[in-house]
Amino acid sequence: MKFYNPVMETMPIEALRKLQSQRLFDMLSRQDQNVPFYTDKYQSLGLRPSDIKSIYDIKQLPFTTKEDLRNQYPYGMRAVPETDFVRIHASSGTTGKPTVVAYTRKDLDIFDEVVARSLVCAGARPGMKLHNAYGYGLFTGGLGMHGGATKLGMAVIPVSGGMTDRQIMILQDFNPEVICCTPSYAQTLAEECNKRGIDTNALAVKYAILGAEPWTEVIRNQVEAGLHVNATNIYGLSEIIGPGVSQEDFEEKGSGSYIWEDHFYPEIVDKDSGEPLDHGEEGVLVLTTLTKEAMPLTRYWTNDICSINYDPDGKRSHIKMSPIKGRADDMLIIRGVNVFPTQIEAVLGELDFVTPNYQIIVTRSAAMDEVELKVEIKPGADKHDVNLLNSVKHKIKENIGISVAVVLCDQGEIPRSTGGKLKRVVDKRI
Ligand code: ADP
Repeated sequence: MKFYNPVMETMPIEALRKLQSQRLFDMLSRQDQNVPFYTDKYQSLGLRPSDIKSIYDIKQLPFTTKEDLRNQYPYGMRAVPETDFVRIHASSGTTGKPTVVAYTRKDLDIFDEVVARSLVCAGARPGMKLHNAYGYGLFTGGLGMHGGATKLGMAVIPVSGGMTDRQIMILQDFNPEVICCTPSYAQTLAEECNKRGIDTNALAVKYAILGAEPWTEVIRNQVEAGLHVNATNIYGLSEIIGPGVSQEDFEEKGSGSYIWEDHFYPEIVDKDSGEPLDHGEEGVLVLTTLTKEAMPLTRYWTNDICSINYDPDGKRSHIKMSPIKGRADDMLIIRGVNVFPTQIEAVLGELDFVTPNYQIIVTRSAAMDEVELKVEIKPGADKHDVNLLNSVKHKIKENIGISVAVVLCDQGEIPRSTGGKLKRVVDKRI
């Protein structure tokens, strides 16, 4: 099995554009008729769905922001009666009050479909077992992966996040071939297996599907070596559907994640002006839900920074997105230089005496942002060795152009993920 849905996943671009155009028109008509928020917005801009003749006209439409969803809390964005809801989720609330999302039966079918495609793309196959260590509950991760895996014909082990002892028992005794969780929790599991002297090569698990937070090749290397898995990226957000908006192929690693374009239309725009950017340029990812019924969103400003590009060598026709550098508001401005925590993480990978366990502490003194980087060293290295400390400082300065205060720490000093997303930045600015 190469694809879950070969027709859709390999559809020629021209046919895909036609489908997207039709779906966009239908979705806008439903919004215009049923969502007062959009009716008012389109009216005030003098827009009618019939003005939008093709997907290329999407740029005329206004953005929808997280703030809009918060203002319409909880169900103001709904395009169907509440009695048609079959599930309600919420965002994790990483950046404030969670936003609420509802699903109709058809929305859940779409969710299952895109997750099933993502699983196959990651190497999973019907008949395999999925160790699902994403949180079950309001967070879309657990139930989202669960539904897609069931649709694909996998056996789901619904462990949820946390309770690491139990996770390891399941890895050892239940023989799952596939695991999904946050990348930081996969780091925790890899470390724990190592501590306990478990031969991970002997475990059945061969594929790890990691997402819900930014991560780099440094963590991929640690997790792949530590758990003996092929680790790929899954991206998604509750407002659009949940995990499964995009997925990296296990045989095309490093070239980006396929966005399931027949359901979610992607654009990249300038983070300050909102102007559309070309393929390959880095900016904010904006997504339009082409098929969702309960809460269809037009040009949703994800605030996630990446670029998009077609891959002529890829197995599928859909566009790929680069790994997320961070949320636009995770960007630090250190003496005029813009820095994302993932850039610091990437540099750490070039130093053979440190581990990818780090924490960034941001403070402000005299209107200047200051960064302290705490990083754990590997066993055998001396945390008091000034040469080691200076080489971290120099490497960061050389690669990113900022000066940071460095503190080397022993193994275990820096917080680990206990099951979900890990906060690697402590912002002490007022
Ligand atoms: P919240 O925004 O409150 O964390 P969600 O749980 O819906 O709510 O998480 C969605 C967000 O998680 C995305 O907008 C993005 O910032 C982050 N995210 C999800 N998957 C990935 C990924 N693979 N890489 C980087 N960031 C991701």
